[in-house]
Amino acid sequence: MFEKILIANRGEIAVRIIRACKELNIRTVAVYSEADANSIHVQLADEAICIGRAPSSESYLRIDRLVSAAEVADVDAIHPGYGFLSENAHFADVCESCNIRFIGPSSRAMNALQEKAVSRALAKKAGVPVAPGSEGVVETEAEALATAKKIGYPVLIKAIAGGGGRGMRVAHNDISLMRGYHTARAEAEKAFGNSGVYVEKYFENPHHIEFQILGDSRGNLVHLGERDCSIQRRHQKLIEETPSPFIETKFKDLRKKMGKAAIRIAEVAQYNNAGTVEFIVDDQGQFYFLEVNKRIQVEHPVTEEVTGIDLIRAQILIAMGEPLKLSQGDIHFRGHAIECRINAEDPLDGFRPSPGRIEMYYSPGGRGVRVDSHAYAGYTIPPHYDSMIGKLITYGKDRREALDRMNRALGEFLITGIKTTISFEQTVLQDPDFRRGVYSTGFIEEILRRGSQGFSSEAA
Ligand code: ADP
Ligand code: ADP
Ligand code: MG
Repeated sequence: MFEKILIANRGEIAVRIIRACKELNIRTVAVYSEADANSIHVQLADEAICIGRAPSSESYLRIDRLVSAAEVADVDAIHPGYGFLSENAHFADVCESCNIRFIGPSSRAMNALQEKAVSRALAKKAGVPVAPGSEGVVETEAEALATAKKIGYPVLIKAIAGGGGRGMRVAHNDISLMRGYHTARAEAEKAFGNSGVYVEKYFENPHHIEFQILGDSRGNLVHLGERDCSIQRRHQKLIEETPSPFIETKFKDLRKKMGKAAIRIAEVAQYNNAGTVEFIVDDQGQFYFLEVNKRIQVEHPVTEEVTGIDLIRAQILIAMGEPLKLSQGDIHFRGHAIECRINAEDPLDGFRPSPGRIEMYYSPGGRGVRVDSHAYAGYTIPPHYDSMIGKLITYGKDRREALDRMNRALGEFLITGIKTTISFEQTVLQDPDFRRGVYSTGFIEEILRRGSQGFSSEAA
């Protein structure tokens, strides 16, 4: 049994991990940057260690300082959360070589799925469909043009090291392809320190549907059903739900097929711990592999609500070497869950981050309502990190009940002093197409285009 875990992260996910540790009677060590000294994860942990200045490159991304902190605090394991170093195989390696367990997949599995062009090849090998596109990295403009000619426009230029919706450009013709090729490379170099890109077919308004998987270190693998994450802005998720209304109402057999495909990929990669296999699906129900996220995901709570499985707890137990006590037949889905990300952003200004001091804060409660957040009244959101300040999750016996509850809970959420996504999300929740479950990744743009500016980003 682990006795002590260091959490190499901040914000709501650090709080979420501390909660799981406490319920397992494991002691916790928080790390924080100078900008996060007043953060709630620092208060909740048993110990806290400052690891540097505000920029993440001087704190949360510093492997040397994290490992030193772990050694000083004498922990058994490190949980990396999401973002930051969570998918960094080198970090996982350093931890293991210092005799600190890394709570995530093995560095070998991580490497096998690291670059998108490489994991596409792995998916093909596993017999899972991938979008038509280039064979691996596209090294020249001419190669990009030849690929586009072969697969037809529109195409998407994607960074092999991409994440968080960055390093992607759509091209509708040769001219925009040449321009996009260079801007995508430059953006990828800046964001990920890797300018490699590849080209694939661009699907207009597909569905983003992903499968949660869990695997132990003995090769047992299960999937925990899907999440529909098609409500996105700038290719970043805003609202997620399970089960997917698209699968439920149109292609019920997809759950089995896609779940199998997700497991196949995990098998070929010899994947262990928690992970997510992402797909896009077109209106005809044809699905294509996107990527594997080799970490816990922001939207994991909706899966927890319908399966009753605590995913962070499962991650910790797997990292301790425990076998999965579940087989696929033991996993049952009950009811419906939906999550709204609460971001300090201004939806009326292109979802621009709106850091600053939270004046008043009241979070909703009641049956079927869960709030995972590190925010409180008087808390100042630093400008250095992600703009997400929490997640509101509601559960109901069916989709209608979960949505009605979400609507009610969004209305109760009171955050003043900064701009948030709350009233925009109320607009989405009340939209007739959304209520019917008819939406794709183009939904938010459609709402903005319709100019139904019935929402405001000011606090209530
Ligand atoms: P999910 O797939 O769970 O929605 P996201 O892709 O939104 O996850 O990313 C989860 C978190 O990690 C977000 O806070 C996002 O900003 C951050 N993130 C994801 N990929 C990267 C990356 N390559 N570099 C920096 N931050 C990233
Ligand atoms: P990231 O690492 O940034 O999460 P993904 O490959 O997972 O990148 O894609 C993020 C989002 O971009 C998807 O959810 C989808 O909305 C969009 N997207 C990615 N690939 C395609 C594609 N070929 N056609 C249309 N949309 C795509
Ligand atoms: Mg993705």
